[in-house]
Amino acid sequence: MDRGYTGTILKVDLTTGDIQEEVIPDWVYERFLAGMGLGAYVLHRDIPAGADPLGPDNMLGFVAGILTGTGSLFTGRWTVVGKSPLTGGWGDANCGGMLAPAIKRCGYDGIFIRGCSDTPVYLEIKNGKASICPAGDLWGQDAVEAEALLTERCRKKKMPRVACIGPAGENLSLISGICTDRGRIAARSGLGAVMGSKKLKAIVLSGTRKIKPHDRDAVHRLSRKCNRWASFQIPFVSGGMLGKIGTLMRMLPTQMAMDGLMFKLMLNKWGTTSMNQMSVEMGDSPIKNWKGTNRDFDAKRSQTVNPDIFRQCEVVKYHCYSCPVGCGGICTTNGRFSETHKPEYETVLALGGLCLNEDADSIFYLNELLNRAGMDSISAGGTVAFAIECFEKGLITTADTDGLELTWGNTEAIVVLIEKMVQREGIGDLLADGTKVAADKIGRDAHHYAIHAGGQELPMHDGRCDPGFAVHYAVEPSPGKHTVGAQLYYEMYRLWKKIPGLPKPDMLYFKGRKYVADESKAICSAACSKYVNVLNGAGACVFGAFLGADRIPMFDWLNAATGWKKSPEDYMAIGEAVQTLRQAFNIKHGRDPRRNIPAPRTTGQPALSTGANKGRCVDIQKMIHDYWQQFGWDTTSGKPDPEVIGPLVQAPITVVGERN
Ligand code: SF4
Repeated sequence: MDRGYTGTILKVDLTTGDIQEEVIPDWVYERFLAGMGLGAYVLHRDIPAGADPLGPDNMLGFVAGILTGTGSLFTGRWTVVGKSPLTGGWGDANCGGMLAPAIKRCGYDGIFIRGCSDTPVYLEIKNGKASICPAGDLWGQDAVEAEALLTERCRKKKMPRVACIGPAGENLSLISGICTDRGRIAARSGLGAVMGSKKLKAIVLSGTRKIKPHDRDAVHRLSRKCNRWASFQIPFVSGGMLGKIGTLMRMLPTQMAMDGLMFKLMLNKWGTTSMNQMSVEMGDSPIKNWKGTNRDFDAKRSQTVNPDIFRQCEVVKYHCYSCPVGCGGICTTNGRFSETHKPEYETVLALGGLCLNEDADSIFYLNELLNRAGMDSISAGGTVAFAIECFEKGLITTADTDGLELTWGNTEAIVVLIEKMVQREGIGDLLADGTKVAADKIGRDAHHYAIHAGGQELPMHDGRCDPGFAVHYAVEPSPGKHTVGAQLYYEMYRLWKKIPGLPKPDMLYFKGRKYVADESKAICSAACSKYVNVLNGAGACVFGAFLGADRIPMFDWLNAATGWKKSPEDYMAIGEAVQTLRQAFNIKHGRDPRRNIPAPRTTGQPALSTGANKGRCVDIQKMIHDYWQQFGWDTTSGKPDPEVIGPLVQAPITVVGERN
């Protein structure tokens, strides 16, 4: 029976050269979906406890969602999973583009790679046949060059889809990611280094298998309905106005529950850069390595990241596979590279306000440099800000920095420093593994200035502005990520419209309420985690989900594609099971969830004395405790009950004579 998923994964061992298919039983999909859930099932089962993340026992899985290719919308995200060398625990990163349907057209829901090759190789899957091919000539090429060469080499009738690493992954930088579509990057968790450790330069996919949903007409009917919301348009303000709206929002004692339709309009017009100045003004964007405020990067200075600057340079807009919004774009740039992907909000602020860099040209240049190198721009910006503060405090001097004057806003020094990180050259070698590793090497009190959760640098959303971000940085099995939950996200997901009993936010509320650590906050945070696991298992983009659960029919699409008859509550239970399994993966590998709490300054300890987040403090310990309670995990250690894990990963027992 057609169910949207293929029911098969490919397993490749680069040490032995062994390649085999494994049929995954239906109960696995019913319990964990595909995407990250399928990845969690395979990795928890197959990676031995204590495996070296950069050794042959670690596995890298490229997984697609159940809905990808079925005719549903917003469902072209692919995810890479593995044991993270950055955190030592569960690692995942996802990206859009065109790779996800290519995985399924090759006949697989996931491609899992273990072992290490002695020499550089790439994996090619073509006409249903997988082969390991030499890649010596590609080693050292940046991600854009390597993709172009492989596309040319492997092209037949159809263009193959490529995921590859750049020099950062080859150099085993712990903040490296995996690239596709000319430098788009699944950046987080350091999984580029895992690929580099396997000497795997790329995977190249060309497939023609049909992706068959259970009821294609029903999927399309739902898509047509959803598309009405996705294509909703009204004339919108200028980029400069967005900063002023942020200022107004900062000054008001109250705030309105956010409707994701508004965010969609901004995405349509500017992409994620729409948030640049607004976030700085509101206190959402951390400034000066999280010790500064919007006053240090005031409206005049942040004019350099006005969304219109990025829009004016945009020459082509693009969409991910099956996306009706299309928030991506290609921009022309001045300097060494003639063009780059439109920089994302995260990149702009990590390389901008976090380091007090006011030079937009340098951000365009570094965006392309990092994309081609395959290095995570969030972690790179966070590490530069850390290095500047260490320099300011005298923990490192020009004798350590190859003569660079690492001062706030010194664009020239920031550019050279990142070039050195990409090459692992001089001071760049010290910083290429992120803030935690660098702080351990610098010693003394450098760790005070290393802003990370469990080893992973924090994104550009300040928990002092929205405590939900702070909670998710600390509680997610893959810590320090902004793509799962926040109080703002809960408002936009509108899950209470589908799931009775979930709290409904007031339309207008006093900001002070956000800081009260009560049970309702924990319920909302847990709901975000569960729902995002469902989205990932479906292959969906979180920006699409911001439209709201009543406008993007995720649960109905899943039922139409699989033929299941599950309720929204059933799907949320699946999301809970995936979260528990990922947490169990961390426990199996000796990863202590209590180590994920970021540096005290990120939660307002001590509170800032000025700026948008003045006086704000988050009771992070209580919020983590309450979150763990929602999942039934031990509230002091964060460990799931081992009695729950066993049955979770075992096949259901069929009683003789029982009818399905
Ligand atoms: S909203 Fe943007 S990131 Fe998400 S699927 Fe569409 S184009 Fe891709």
